Amino acid sequence: MFKNTLNKEVLNDISNLFFKEINGEGRYTEAVMEKISCSRSFVSKLRKNWSKNDGLIKLKDPTKTTVKEKQDVALNTGLKYFSIGTNCLKCSKDERYSSTGSCVACSKQRNQRNVGILDMSFNVEDNLPALTILDRTSRLESGLICNL
Ligand SMILES: [Zn+2]
Repeated sequence: MFKNTLNKEVLNDISNLFFKEINGEGRYTEAVMEKISCSRSFVSKLRKNWSKNDGLIKLKDPTKTTVKEKQDVALNTGLKYFSIGTNCLKCSKDERYSSTGSCVACSKQRNQRNVGILDMSFNVEDNLPALTILDRTSRLESGLICNL
């Protein structure tokens, strides 16, 4: 509904009302609500948008999709990877995991680094010293436990 009613002319009118508010000519929240039949909080959003964009209300470009939207599409179509159309700032590649949305190359690099820190290459059984299992009497005699 908003997309149809929020044309350039209407946005101009609303901008003028917000400009009047700035000049101390009252509040026009109700007037805007009536004009485009929206909620009070939507007027607040428009007002914030207007003041952030130096007296212009800038609507989201409907042709542009967010990363989240692209990720959702990839997930819904069962793809393991997706791209967002812009390269990663760290590695300059454009391939992301559908499940997490994180960069594939950076994730792999991070995992490699973690493997290096943990050094999982050794075999646990080979490096453990042979431990003797002592019975109760031996443990009492060696002083490992006391008989109370
Ligand atoms: Zn990356």
